[in-house]
Amino acid sequence: MRVRCAAPLAAPPIENAAVWIAEGRIRAVGPWPELKDAVPGKPEDLGEALLLPAFLNAHCHLEYTDFADRFRERPRGFVDWIERMIAAKRARSLEDARRARRRGARMLLQSGVARALDIVTDAALAETDSDTSPLRVASFLECLAPSPGEREKAELARIDKAAPLLQTGRIAGLSPHAPYSAAPGLIRRCAQLAAALGLPLSIHAAESREEWEMFARAEGPLYQWLQARGRPMDDCGGATPIRRLAELGALGPRTWIAHANCLDEGDVGLLARSGATVVHCPRSHAYFGHPPFPLEKLRCGGVPVCLGTDSLAGTAAEEAFPKLDLFAELAACAREFPGLGKEEIVRMATVEPARAGGWAGQAGELRPGAVADLAAIPFRGAPAEAFEAIVAHRGPVLRMMLQGEWIDV
Ligand SMILES: [Zn+2]
Repeated sequence: MRVRCAAPLAAPPIENAAVWIAEGRIRAVGPWPELKDAVPGKPEDLGEALLLPAFLNAHCHLEYTDFADRFRERPRGFVDWIERMIAAKRARSLEDARRARRRGARMLLQSGVARALDIVTDAALAETDSDTSPLRVASFLECLAPSPGEREKAELARIDKAAPLLQTGRIAGLSPHAPYSAAPGLIRRCAQLAAALGLPLSIHAAESREEWEMFARAEGPLYQWLQARGRPMDDCGGATPIRRLAELGALGPRTWIAHANCLDEGDVGLLARSGATVVHCPRSHAYFGHPPFPLEKLRCGGVPVCLGTDSLAGTAAEEAFPKLDLFAELAACAREFPGLGKEEIVRMATVEPARAGGWAGQAGELRPGAVADLAAIPFRGAPAEAFEAIVAHRGPVLRMMLQGEWIDV
């Protein structure tokens, strides 16, 4: 195909570009005059458009897509949000969750996302991909039991039951929810199983001031709230959430840490040495008013940082019609870090998550051999304006191709 401009990420933006696709993969990308004789048949002309690799969303909960209205009002604090979340989850059925996943997947496809790392609360949601297809979803089974005891045992049994789905890849990985909400034994078991099977982990950690106060100083609203609910608090005081995860064996090269807003220097070193990846969710961060995301510290420390949408239970404050939208996350990231280059921001939703997910060279870039997952947006500018235009784009993509096939968005 021919297009006004392509931003391959693997190379600088190309004016008057040609992209040759065969059997679902990219065969060649380059200037039209150089490739036009090599491309077989009559190539499609996309005209005034910018072609880019489809995004990877490194953290979401598609099943909470229908919660947006319940969370319109900003929480009074992190504990208030947790209580509202518990109530919202109690009030919905598995069928509601399925419907929400279908809507969420559609929103992500419209915002140029080809792959998503998604947390599921029930293995049944991951058993079929017909709800979310053609979005390619890596499902992480969430485990949640704040205290050792019956609830933890039930969660451990649930993981064992899901073992065949984990072994066959139907469930991509495990998600012990967070250091405050998954008992130490549960986190350790998830980490062991993931290591044994070579699977990734996705964990929320160091998200809020309240979580930090709980682990570092054994105080604060989250500490009190969990203590009142019978959680043994003997792991609190004197260590950070990230250090707790390291002690439990949960940090490694296949660990995705969502949020990581509250870190000390030691945490950055632990993350860097483990090879873990951090996922920043800019609109969720703004919704909660968390402490500033330590992007510079992480980058200087050599920790990869990707972008995620999180869920509409934590991003929906200002919008009339809230949507999961990776372009909106890019824009929010640009507002949060005005000095950060636009290409760097785009890489956090393409090249970086592809590398962290084990798809380097296969996804997140337009290069020979990569899967042909492409998005096109309207564009009349010069190549030097390509990344600015991607970050500024609003609304659905113009065209979306998955594995070499155009899809309806
Ligand atoms: Zn999340």
